[in-house]
This record gives sequence, C-alpha cells and structure tokens, in this order.
Amino acid sequence: MRSTSNSGSDEDHAGAPAVVNGSWFAAGSARRHDGTLTLEGGAFRVLSADGATAACPVAQARLSDFGDAMTVEFPDGSAFVVASGQPAAARLRAGVRGRAQLVTRLERRWQAVLVAVVATVVLCALLLFVVLPAMTAPLARLVPDAWARLIDEQSLPLFDRLVLDPSALPTGERERIAGGFAELVDGLGLDTSRYSLQFRSGGSVGANAFAMPGGTIIVTDRMTEIASPAELDAVLAHEIGHVELRHGLQQILRKSTLAIILVLVGPDAGTISELAQGLPAVLLDSGYSRAFEREADRFACDALARLGRDPSALADALQRLAEEHPEAVAVHAWVSSHPETDERIATIRSFTPAEPAPGR
Ligand SMILES: [Zn+2]
Repeated sequence: MRSTSNSGSDEDHAGAPAVVNGSWFAAGSARRHDGTLTLEGGAFRVLSADGATAACPVAQARLSDFGDAMTVEFPDGSAFVVASGQPAAARLRAGVRGRAQLVTRLERRWQAVLVAVVATVVLCALLLFVVLPAMTAPLARLVPDAWARLIDEQSLPLFDRLVLDPSALPTGERERIAGGFAELVDGLGLDTSRYSLQFRSGGSVGANAFAMPGGTIIVTDRMTEIASPAELDAVLAHEIGHVELRHGLQQILRKSTLAIILVLVGPDAGTISELAQGLPAVLLDSGYSRAFEREADRFACDALARLGRDPSALADALQRLAEEHPEAVAVHAWVSSHPETDERIATIRSFTPAEPAPGR
C-alpha cells in the first residue's frame, strides 16, 4: 500500500507529491482524456478521469516547458499536458529539474570517480615501476656521505641489540682479514676512510656478510670459518659493490618515496597502510634487491679481475653459503632462493671482464 498525499508524505519539500490537472494523450492517439499527473517518490503517475493509468520514473520522462504550457512526455510516446494556472506546476518543474540535475551530477561524479581510479592506478604503476627506479639512483648519489654514515651509526647498535653478538674471532685472525680488506679497498682506488669492517658473531644469522649504506661492512665469525681467504675477499668485494653503488640508500629512498606517494594519492589511510605494508614491500624487498645482488656480483667480478684475482671465488663463496643455508633463510639476500642462487653462480662463472687485462 502506498501512502496517500494527505497522510504519510505531505511534508513541504521536493519529496512531497505534486499534483496537477491537465489532459492525457495515449501513445499515438490524439484523443484527450482529462486527468491528474502526480509527481511522487521520483516517479510520474497519471490517472485519467475514465480510469486509465500510466506511470514512469522521472529520469525517463521529458519535460517540455514553455512557461505556462508544460508537457510531460513519457518514453512510450504518451504525454500529459498540464492545464494552465496550476499552483503545483512550479513544484513539478522543480522536482523534474532537481531529479535531472541529480542524475546528471551522479553520472558525472561516477565518471569522475572512474577516471580518478584509473588515473591513480596508472600513476602508481608509473611511479613504482618507471619513475622511482629511475629517480632513486641519481638521488642516492646526492646524499652526502656524512648522512649515510649517520644511518650506519644509528642502525649498528640496533643490529647488535637484535641479532648480533660480539665476535669470538682471535685478534690475529681479525687483523689478517682487516688487512686483506684494506688492501682490497685501497687496490680498487676507493676512499679507505669511508669503510669500516666489523666482526660479529652472527647467532641465528649464521654465515653472512652485509653492508650498511655508509660503508660499514659486517662479517660474521661463521662466514670467516666457511670461506677461504680468497672467497672471503670476493664476498667483501660484493659488499663494497653495495656501498659504492649506493644500494642501501636507494632502498631507503625507494621505500620512503613510496610511502610519501601513497600518502599523496592514496584514497584513505587504511588502504595506504595496507599497500605500504603489503605489495610494495614484497616488490621492493625481492624485486629490487635481486637486481642489486646482480649489480654487486658484477661489481665484485670486475673488481677481482682488475686486481688480477679470480672472480670465480665469488661463485665458490656463494656455493658454500647455499650449502650452509639449505633452508634459504637469511637476513641478507645472499641466499634468497636456490634457483636464483644457481643462476647467480652460473653468471659469475661465465664472467668475462669488459676490458680484457693486458696479456690475456
Ligand atoms: Zn649482496
């Protein structure tokens, strides 16, 4: 049952029914029927004096309005001509316009939302896969060394507290390795003051080596045990590669830039934090660092070849690390997955220096 115009919905606003008298013409007929046209709840309803009825949603009707002469055309071709001098005609007119405007507004808003969503997705993809990777390498080079060292100073105590323990390596052994490292850095013509080799007991980290952005390189006791001196130097050359190529800084920049972008374009805070923690983290940590590992491998091979050493020592070290970490769990991407490690080993073994050394 519908409520009548006099009981439930007679409030004086656009939603209240507007009733006008006039003439009803059925589709394709010139015969006139006296009747009423009611606008209520977003629909027109015709009731002719001889009992015929018709109805149609306002959005589907067309209003021809020439001042006093007002006609409402229904989609089936029928029409209602409003009699002149009807007080409710103005409300009818307002109701139709309001509805039409609302429909147009909603349509426009919907289109705007769609455009915004598509634009956001395209923009995000562009930033994530094109702009960001292209931008962070030059940006990372602009970061002053002092800032990078500050990161090391801040994070080393954190590492020590969370995962690392003091090294149990004899002093003589440490001095021997540190000497080899200094020789490596110096031999490559790099700034020795930038680098600091730190010995630690790895605990759950096991055999490992990793570089911090500012040039602090940590090597675990277990790493020095399983690797031969040549292999350890190759591992250190790989870590020097991470520092020289500013991989740590790039990683930090990518993550923080991404967070900023997500805050700027993200639709709401919940989505932002979900995105920030989910997909990009996966992309950045595996996708980006995989490329960095290959770059650092390449750097180490070049460096070792330049110093007249055998780059295959790096492949040997990698092989040992893979055997040492069969579960492929490591804080550093040294051994992230076996197919990948095998591929890296194969690439290193097939390495040929870009410029052949004299006498080859
Ligand atoms: Zn690495």
